Amino acid sequence: MEQDRSSQSRPPHVLVFPLPIQGHINSMIKLAELLAIAGFKLTFLNSHHNHERLVKFNNIAAHFERYSGFQFKTITDGLPLDHPRSGNWFLDMFEDTMEPKMKESLREVLVNSSPPVDCIIGDGFLGFALDVAKELGIPIIFFRTSSPCCFWVYYSIPDIIQAGELPINGSEDIDRLITTVPGMETYLRCRDLPTFCRKLDIEDSIIKLVVKQTRKSLQADALILNTAEELDGPILSQIRTKCPRVYAVGPLHAQLNTRLNAKHGESYDHISNTLWEVDKSCIFWLNKQPNRSVIYVSFGSITSTSREQLLELWYGLLNSKTKFLLVVRPNSVIGKDGEGEDVVMELMEKSKDRGYIVNWAPQEAVLNHPAIGGFFTHNGWNSTLESVVAGVPMICWPQFADQHVNCRVVSEVWKIGLDMKDVCDSKIVEKMVNDVMVDRKEEFAKSASEIAKEKIKMVQWRPIHLKRSRAETRARR
Ligand code: UDP
Repeated sequence: MEQDRSSQSRPPHVLVFPLPIQGHINSMIKLAELLAIAGFKLTFLNSHHNHERLVKFNNIAAHFERYSGFQFKTITDGLPLDHPRSGNWFLDMFEDTMEPKMKESLREVLVNSSPPVDCIIGDGFLGFALDVAKELGIPIIFFRTSSPCCFWVYYSIPDIIQAGELPINGSEDIDRLITTVPGMETYLRCRDLPTFCRKLDIEDSIIKLVVKQTRKSLQADALILNTAEELDGPILSQIRTKCPRVYAVGPLHAQLNTRLNAKHGESYDHISNTLWEVDKSCIFWLNKQPNRSVIYVSFGSITSTSREQLLELWYGLLNSKTKFLLVVRPNSVIGKDGEGEDVVMELMEKSKDRGYIVNWAPQEAVLNHPAIGGFFTHNGWNSTLESVVAGVPMICWPQFADQHVNCRVVSEVWKIGLDMKDVCDSKIVEKMVNDVMVDRKEEFAKSASEIAKEKIKMVQWRPIHLKRSRAETRARR
């Protein structure tokens, strides 16, 4: 059924449709807002579950009221209401449970949309949106929220397998170089591939799903990536050999901050779009700490840790020469019922003088706070970009998806961080924190500040409450 979009005098209507995961919503809602600022009519299609949380924990309605053509619509994510939506849930549930229901609901929204949708910007992981768009004759652009390097690695998995470079043969083989991903021959190791590539069974259903979605992304009318040419130029060129219409429009958070600041005098902490209640008390704690004296520790919205890993991490932080701000998301510590929460309370009490623990932090504001000197991160792409733009060096503890390859780029290509590899051991944590925050502080601060200044130079962002950007402040020291 072809929709009638003839002789329009109205602004084009774009529907933005993210995968129902915090990191994806984060960057896609920013893209949607940038388009609304540019005058497009916007529908942001969220899952019921995530929208409820978004409304509960953010002043989202008031913020988006300023765009007369902006609306939120919600559909099911296909999961039962009581599903915890935590851990590695989504890859296992995607094809059988989530996709059929989401596809049906998307179709319904598009068919009933008034005015009709002129263009879909779909999450590149939601390949079924392409089928619906084609059926209804609506142009579709895919947006891959992960890094270009990760996209390129996912795309190349069949070639890596064909060249006999996968599967990985045991733990001693993990540092072997992979030579069949063009542009990454000199630095990509087996351990930098997504963890599902560590399976001996290369016929694994998750590998197949990820490759399928990635290759499908290139069948859309165009592909958008959240990066800048200056940051990822060589890999973008490789992707363009497969799809000429690839646009680097990021880092989106910085692009949006620039525009909101110019238009409304607002800084990044005016609006948040998180699915947890933000604990801003950590900013008051940071205000009392000396410049660049605190390491911020947070592992994003999906990862979980065992009680043992959390304790190793905590002892490492406690024994280091630095204060810390640690985020432990509710239900993110795996243990018997209530055990995870108990251990967090205990750590909070025991480390009062050395650190501050919150459930969820205003991350952009934290990373741009003068007291922060480093970021201990899982290297989700949003977190990585937020750290790069703020000029903050990283300690990388990647867990899955794009995080390992992002970690490799941070530590080996940009040289603005250290790779903790797979082991969370208190001695290693202590050493890495001391390296980044004390012993090699100036070296890392300089390289992080240079990347922020030179590679992100198109972003003329000035956080108003800091007067000048962190990168500039550091460069002047
Ligand atoms: N985030 C936040 N507060 C926290 C932890 C994370 O606001 O305490 C935000 C962070 O700024 C980032 C997003 O959550 O924008 C996490 O996305 P990312 O791609 O880094 O990781 P994911 O959650 O997808 O693994």
